[in-house]
Amino acid sequence: MVPKKILIVEDEEDVQELIQYNLRKNGFLCESALDGKTALTKADTYKPDLVLLDLMLPRIDGLQVCRSLKSSSTLSKIPVIILTAKGTESDIVAGLEAGADDYITKPFSPQVLLARIKAVLRRAEAPPPGENATIRIHNIEIDPGRHRTFVNGKEVELTSTEFKMLHFLAARPGWVFTRYQIVDAVHGPDYPVTDRSVDVQIVGLRKKLGKAGDLIETVRGVGYRFREED
Ligand code: CA
Repeated sequence: MVPKKILIVEDEEDVQELIQYNLRKNGFLCESALDGKTALTKADTYKPDLVLLDLMLPRIDGLQVCRSLKSSSTLSKIPVIILTAKGTESDIVAGLEAGADDYITKPFSPQVLLARIKAVLRRAEAPPPGENATIRIHNIEIDPGRHRTFVNGKEVELTSTEFKMLHFLAARPGWVFTRYQIVDAVHGPDYPVTDRSVDVQIVGLRKKLGKAGDLIETVRGVGYRFREED
């Protein structure tokens, strides 16, 4: 197997070296950048399979680096995991809405870091199913063509919005989405919505799904995620 290349963008050198040491020990190739401007140049030349991106960076901050990568015609497909301090949910939300694929809060253990990197690389290689493909995950079956949902083979009646939310989340298990991203996917970016109205929809959806409603996990302060299959 070809080793995966990781670009580590982190201005604290000891943290950066520790990450590099752990990734190399686990068979990854690494390059590093100590500021946002170098990160963008290296992303272009090194062509990493994944970028680990600190948010607080000199020269160009991490959010801006993320936006630049995700709006680039050549680099937008590279998954980005943002690294941010604990208790900064608004940073995480901003990072996800800037196109980051996942996040890790500092301080983190090497095991958590490795698990996240592997999960994001795995997801990047398995794109979401087509718009009309039936999704079977855990004990749920979602048929977008016929707009029908089954739990343990038994049909569940959902409203159009509930159905679209479930379909959007279940098609991308393991991904965390902010409320804004969910509404954007379900209604389009101009739909007037409050955080609260998304929460209300999710409560209704969970209730109708019964025990399977637990598969839609709340990520405190950030948004929602559909549980991955083991
Ligand atoms: Ca930093």
